[in-house]
Amino acid sequence: MKDKLKFYINGQWVESESNEKIEVINPANETIVGHVTAGTKEDIDSAVKAATNAFKTYQFSSKDQRIELLNNVIAEYENRYQDFVDTITEEMGAPLWLSSKAQASTGIKNLNETLDALKEYEFEKEEGDYILMKEPIGVVGMITPWNWPMNQITTKVSAALAAGCTMVLKPSEISPYCAMLLAEVFDTAGVPAGIFNVVNGYGPTVGAALSEHKYVDMMSFTGSTRAGIAVAQASATTVKRVHQELGGKSSNIILDDVADLERSVKGGAGHCFLNSGQSCNAPTKMLVSSTNYDKAVEVAGATAESTTVGDPHGEFRMGPIANKAQYEKVLRMIEIGIEEGATLVAGGTERPDGYDSGYYVKPTVFANVTPDMTIAKEEIFGPVLSIIKYETEEEAIQIANDTEYGLAGYIQGEPSHAHEVAKKIRAGQIIINGGARGTGAPFGGYKASGNGREHGLHGLEECLETKAVIAPGA
Ligand code: NAD
Repeated sequence: MKDKLKFYINGQWVESESNEKIEVINPANETIVGHVTAGTKEDIDSAVKAATNAFKTYQFSSKDQRIELLNNVIAEYENRYQDFVDTITEEMGAPLWLSSKAQASTGIKNLNETLDALKEYEFEKEEGDYILMKEPIGVVGMITPWNWPMNQITTKVSAALAAGCTMVLKPSEISPYCAMLLAEVFDTAGVPAGIFNVVNGYGPTVGAALSEHKYVDMMSFTGSTRAGIAVAQASATTVKRVHQELGGKSSNIILDDVADLERSVKGGAGHCFLNSGQSCNAPTKMLVSSTNYDKAVEVAGATAESTTVGDPHGEFRMGPIANKAQYEKVLRMIEIGIEEGATLVAGGTERPDGYDSGYYVKPTVFANVTPDMTIAKEEIFGPVLSIIKYETEEEAIQIANDTEYGLAGYIQGEPSHAHEVAKKIRAGQIIINGGARGTGAPFGGYKASGNGREHGLHGLEECLETKAVIAPGA
């Protein structure tokens, strides 16, 4: 049993007064892996106090000192790489190939892109008759989800470290071990005490205590829109900056001049199923013209049938859904799709053959989905693709934008045409013809998908305050 009951505060592993434990469950077999402690307001107070003290000196650290710290963290992260891979697979069920090639590796990618931004950044420059100073905002409270744990944690932590901020992280109570591993990395890398602190616990208790804390200068939140609103409300009384990376319901528009229809549909469906569909930017609504619709449904169905699901330690493309609550939500959304009259082309609510436990969901494709159906409107956060027919390009754009969210968009078509369509989609990141997320490209949402941007320069600037120094005649 892997019980990790202490918190990392002020450079030490400390015990909480709390006796309440949270079970960490392996979603592949529903067994208890271990426990963490459900922290309290007092634990948050201790961590914020440590971060506040550390900020007194760390805010004045030089760029070279921060570069050295980031380099040391990257080196130690690389030393512990396999531990991250194994931990991610155990606590949230990503198959080993995905944990290694994408989940754990995004940590290194994020740390490096922040490092590159830091090297180039001018914290002070003359702007005509004043000096523009960019200074660390202070203590940053961070709350993260379970679906891409190291991606979300490292993009926040690296930005704060580069900016000269100190931090208190509350990771998801469902996948908490990665954050504790990162605390070990920070410790071994020699990051001074108090700069990075970790407290585990539930959102409405420790998450809320962090958000409303008067000595926390900024909240950086990734998770559901529901919890993001709660964090913003709790933060409002202390007028702190609130950065939010929230939910999404992203469209993948297949234009009629797409170069290779089959390849694009296959790629789009595969992207939707990646990480068992548990990605905030997943292309879950595929919009196809009536000309190409039947062919697209056939290809997407075949892609689902050939996407293997099973034990994350085996040779499967997809593992289980990361936790029971999410598993039940995904099954319910599939039932709703059927009840509302969409056509089930592949998948469904049965576990894959050979599994009678574990939170496994088969890749699922629905055709004849209309924009008013629940599965076309709500974020499912599972491997469920909805294919919607459009008659005109204007209608496709209108369907893509007819959502409370605005995180991402995908367009397949002749590049200059796709570029014109991209201008009309209200979302923070548009990917044309299946390109990868660009290094350092900003990530974040329009509308209910959030406020602010992360990654590289954009993430660094989120953690900075702006000061104008005006000295006539100087
Ligand atoms: P969640 O909102 O339930 O939990 C996320 C975090 O918020 C957890 O650490 C949780 O403990 C905390 N939390 C919950 N209620 C809180 C409260 N009242 N006050 C403070 N903290 C609280 O989300 P989840 O189920 O862990 O993650 C899935 C959601 O995250 C999806 O909606 C997904 O789209 C979103 N997400 C967004 C991005 C992005 O970058 N936009 C990335 C990944 C996930």
